[in-house]
Amino acid sequence: MPDTAPYPDDLSASFIPPQPIAVLRDVFGYGSFRGQQAEVIDHVIAGKDALVLMPTGGGKSLCYQIPALCRPGVAIVVSPLIALMKDQVDALTQLGVKAAFINSTLAPDAAREIEIRAIEGDIDLLYVAPERFATDRFLNLLDRIRIALFAIDEAHCVSQWGHDFRPEYRRLDLLPTRYPHVPRIALTATADTPTRKDIAESLHLTGARCFLTGFDRPNITYRIETKGNAKQRLLSFLNREHPEDAGIVYCLSRRKTEDIAQWLTENGRPALPYHAGLPQEVRQNHQDRFLKEDGLIICATVAFGMGIDKPNVRFVAHLNLPKSMEAYYQETGRAGRDGLPANAWMNYDLSDIVSIRSMLSSSDAPDSQKRIESRKLDALVGLAETITCRRQVILSYFGETLPEPCGNCDTCLEPVETWDATDAARKALSAVYRTGQRFGPAHIIDVLTGRQTEKIRQNNHDKTTVYGIGKDIAQPQWRSVFRQLLAMDYLQVDVEGHGGIYLTDTCRPVLRGEKTVQMRLDPGESKRTTTRRLRDFDTNFDTEEDRDLWERLRSLRRELASQQNVPPYVIFSDRTLWEMVRFKPRNLDDMSSINGVGVKKLDQYGLAFLDVMDGRR
Ligand code: ADP
Ligand code: ZN
Repeated sequence: MPDTAPYPDDLSASFIPPQPIAVLRDVFGYGSFRGQQAEVIDHVIAGKDALVLMPTGGGKSLCYQIPALCRPGVAIVVSPLIALMKDQVDALTQLGVKAAFINSTLAPDAAREIEIRAIEGDIDLLYVAPERFATDRFLNLLDRIRIALFAIDEAHCVSQWGHDFRPEYRRLDLLPTRYPHVPRIALTATADTPTRKDIAESLHLTGARCFLTGFDRPNITYRIETKGNAKQRLLSFLNREHPEDAGIVYCLSRRKTEDIAQWLTENGRPALPYHAGLPQEVRQNHQDRFLKEDGLIICATVAFGMGIDKPNVRFVAHLNLPKSMEAYYQETGRAGRDGLPANAWMNYDLSDIVSIRSMLSSSDAPDSQKRIESRKLDALVGLAETITCRRQVILSYFGETLPEPCGNCDTCLEPVETWDATDAARKALSAVYRTGQRFGPAHIIDVLTGRQTEKIRQNNHDKTTVYGIGKDIAQPQWRSVFRQLLAMDYLQVDVEGHGGIYLTDTCRPVLRGEKTVQMRLDPGESKRTTTRRLRDFDTNFDTEEDRDLWERLRSLRRELASQQNVPPYVIFSDRTLWEMVRFKPRNLDDMSSINGVGVKKLDQYGLAFLDVMDGRR
């Protein structure tokens, strides 16, 4: 027993704590800990506080679930999303762990029963929503429970600097005074330095040890393109690389989520919309279907996704630029939580930058906040237009260094060609200047290419010296030039005006001819036939037998899942089924060495899956 434990009494004397590694193997069916898991777990079991920052899919849950099983008492897990508690509890129940949740979806009787079980110590993990947490009723309950630990999931919700601020999280500051001897572990996937500091301060965790794991998600392939006809390109990307996979398509507007979902469905790819304007039941239903069905696509606004635990999301596509690097990384991070190869694909355009800028400027946020958000957007535009490894740019934004280019992003896979854009940049900047620094890029490009439009005539822009000086470059390439000038901070969007752009001080050396400008050459349509499917895990098996086996295993999984009304991955993950195809377990013993097959699942499903292996099912 750890010496900081508050209960030096009979109960703890009779509790023989299991070893973490034994729990990992027997309960979860995994062979070894990942990254810093073992250290975090030992630390918490010893009764000490921890702040854990790990990327999505890094394996945060085990960091509190295993201590929950190794310390006497009930672990209280504060988790922000009611909709997902049930899934988490279902998954633990499948593993034979005593888990439950208390939230507003429970009938009073059911809640009471769980309270009694908690008091009796008949629960190992109790999930609770933050708004429920600080109620008198719940605090009274806590006073009657022997508490193993407090886990605070999605801890960035406590911070106003984070992007999902939940005021109720602030109440968790009462924990150290009320329960000074109970260890606390706060976990999050996204936290830059100020947010991290704020989390530690708001939760009174400044004395806690901080476990900071690298933010890299090596299994995700990043790709950002800027071609027109985004819809069509999305469809061909999906058909080419994800013919059967589930994934998320993020759009900026509610309308667009519905349009895209309908259009994908019409084109043979079942898809559902998700946004905050849909009735609650519809949203819930679409989310459930996404979790439970294979190969369904969700077209969503940012309202979708916090805490989406579906491990086999194989792609996240963006049809618009998100508003910050944090948002981009969090949204793309929902792909490939299972560690298997996944794609983050984005198609964006100049107009995205302008519209996000205007959204920022019309918000009621204080100026200081607007400046922060504007810098965050700049960073993302910089990523989109970089000519170097995308992963290096992302990680450096989060304060990490990746010494070598990653080899798994589009600029690494198909190195970008660059061109000397000095002359074009000077023409573009002059055109902005000569037209009064108050028009948007579309109009300025019309001026440069010498078009005849109403707006040009009205403003006499055909009389300026810059009219038609850019005819040698086609419109799409001009758009690319303007994007990059914005990304390089030579130009800024006027946030007070109507999306007009103006020159910044940094562009002076370029205008004076003292500085050259290299730009990325956006490859033409034809060049980008792409792409290698980087897969050590590949479900396009070589033989007909394996393909058939894979399908039969999945169909048994589906059947078992629907009998119990849980998502299929709660039964077994894709990785687990894939290992069955690869290693062909012949008996229960072989089966137990497959990743993800613990004692309970072996007992419950081992024979049924062996039957499939033998062709008896
Ligand atoms: P996070 O909450 O950090 O996003 P999860 O806790 O959901 O990540 O874990 C992601 C996936 O990795 C889950 O499917 C989990 O079961 C699996 N996992 C976690 N730790 C291990 C491990 N040590 N060995 C194998 N799989 C693991
Ligand atoms: Zn790279």
